[in-house]
Amino acid sequence: MPVQTPEEMVAALLYLVPATTVPWEQLLAATAKLEPLTQRERCELLLRAVNSDRLSPTMWARLVGAHESTPGIDTQLYKGAMPALRAALARVVADPATAIVDIGANSAEIVNDSVMLIPKVSVDAGKWVQGERVVGRSRGHALAYALNLFLDPEKAFGRLLRQCRWSKCGRFAIGEPPKSRGQPPNYYCTPEHRREGELEQTRERVAKLRRKHK
Ligand SMILES: [Zn+2]
Repeated sequence: MPVQTPEEMVAALLYLVPATTVPWEQLLAATAKLEPLTQRERCELLLRAVNSDRLSPTMWARLVGAHESTPGIDTQLYKGAMPALRAALARVVADPATAIVDIGANSAEIVNDSVMLIPKVSVDAGKWVQGERVVGRSRGHALAYALNLFLDPEKAFGRLLRQCRWSKCGRFAIGEPPKSRGQPPNYYCTPEHRREGELEQTRERVAKLRRKHK
């Protein structure tokens, strides 16, 4: 039957176009071993990678997509991407709004048309839990997708991103929303780093004063 009206066209698109244009079964089989991650879990996993925490090959595979689900994954390969990711995240900590202007367009460009998301939703005791598997054209594309979660102003991750203020550390973490307006207070990842970091700040202030009074 020929399609006559726009309504019929929609029906045709929904029901008549064969679903074989995407090798769906192959795609699902390739990603079957990857546990889906919620977006927050993906953000946290990216931070662990950037913080140089040890990640198991399975964790790496979940972060960088199906391409790496093969055994014997070489995690050394990712090390090269880390300085760029660290710099981008530090930029987000410094100011999320200008980070979008400076790195958002590039990061979006990497992800566009190069990442597929396979959602997995479960409803548990009335709670909606949405995870997703990410399949990237390459592991770099999948990593850029994780970075984009911090750049998206519709999501809270960028505003909650913190970096340990002690200069010898610089670990990233997702923090709590600040209790008051304005800049969040200095973040330190452990009480020891707070001690070290605050000592360092004091020394810097004193040095600055000395220079001023010379
Ligand atoms: Zn620290």
